[in-house]
Amino acid sequence: MSESINTARVAIAPSPWHDVSWEHWDDWHWQISNRITTVEELSQVINLNDEEKKVISKSLNTLRMAITPYYASLIDPEDRRCPIRMRAVPTMAETHISDEDLFDPLHEDLDSPSPGVTHRYPDRLLFLVTDQCSMYCRHCTRRRYSGETDRPRSQSEMDAAITYVRETPGVRDVLLSGGDPFTLATERLEYLVAKLHEIPHVEIVRYGTATPVVMPQRITDELLQMLKKYQPVWINTHFNHPKELTGRAKQALAKLADAGCVLGNQSALLRGVNDCPYIIKELCQRLVENRVHPYRLYQCDLSQGISHFRTSISRGIEIIEHLKGHTTGFAVPEFMVDLPGGGGKTPVNPFYMISQSDRAVIFRNYEGVIAKFAEPQDARFLGCPENCHICQDRRERGLDHPFVGLEQLYDGDKLSLEPSGLARHKRKTV
Ligand SMILES: *Cc1c(COP(=O)(O)O)cnc(C)c1O
Repeated sequence: MSESINTARVAIAPSPWHDVSWEHWDDWHWQISNRITTVEELSQVINLNDEEKKVISKSLNTLRMAITPYYASLIDPEDRRCPIRMRAVPTMAETHISDEDLFDPLHEDLDSPSPGVTHRYPDRLLFLVTDQCSMYCRHCTRRRYSGETDRPRSQSEMDAAITYVRETPGVRDVLLSGGDPFTLATERLEYLVAKLHEIPHVEIVRYGTATPVVMPQRITDELLQMLKKYQPVWINTHFNHPKELTGRAKQALAKLADAGCVLGNQSALLRGVNDCPYIIKELCQRLVENRVHPYRLYQCDLSQGISHFRTSISRGIEIIEHLKGHTTGFAVPEFMVDLPGGGGKTPVNPFYMISQSDRAVIFRNYEGVIAKFAEPQDARFLGCPENCHICQDRRERGLDHPFVGLEQLYDGDKLSLEPSGLARHKRKTV
């Protein structure tokens, strides 16, 4: 196994933490209570001129700054374009709201049946259990919400979310996010997870957490013991750059994998940080080596104050073009654009199918080879196998949903889908 540049670095406390004991340094409570939250503290870790100090204080009015000493220790103090620094340290650009920016681009607050719950997709929902993160990413898509109180949700809101899940039988997958759910005390997290685990229709609980990246000390034996009790556990973490895969981070990932957690990673595509095919390829290969599946690469949302991080969608497509076929299939993340207005996550890919007839489909591959794949001579659908009961069982269990999207054309009785208010319908006399 190879160690790439910078990834072997184990956090060694620089000033101002040179006299901190290892016990403190490796304690996540210490990491949280000693986060860097002021410009004065920050200037002890990286070199800031007076202008930068002014700018940072100003942009702190948008999203609070809080950097764990561990993550701060990875910043190159001299390099303004250090990827760790760009993720953690505010800049003036955040105070700029561009024309296309939106307050709640994904309509998370509008599609919400209970505080903190967004139920958008048919069989799964998102529950923001806290607005606290151990470290606030400057590219955060939930800037409107993250860090507002730096606290978990109240007991009554947690209970309301559990009740909503219990009373909604179609929900088989509950995604806990925030903020960062792993900032909750283990007992509070267990309270929530145990309640969800008791609900018969909840098949999986998954977590979105950046703690392996910004505070790997959180992955304690106590947390692992708790997680193990409520399998299956799926965890998505949030590495954006190979520099973040330190020895300490790898150790946290190994512990989670050894505890039987299924690990995935979601990266944000960020201009000037990781918008390069070779950075993403290196990141994804190192993730796979550490038993983490690169699940998604996200186009930066249209949230306010992050337009400086946004690349063109075509840059993301170009990155995927460099990966698919060129490296291990499961080392290639799915490139996703989350559509504004609650349109949801939508995959975007390079085009591989270049033409089509009833005899053959013509493809090009990753090397540029163009080839024909013959269609079967008689490919009529034969109808459902007689001994298959899957659809019938679904109906009996009351899980049959109204058909959504193109399902209505394929399986429903519709011939066309139309937007409401078509002008030509208004012109009809009857
Ligand atoms: C992202 C998201 C999910 C999970 O989506 P997957 O594509 O299944 O990973 C669920 N609910 C909401 C509101 C989301 O934004």
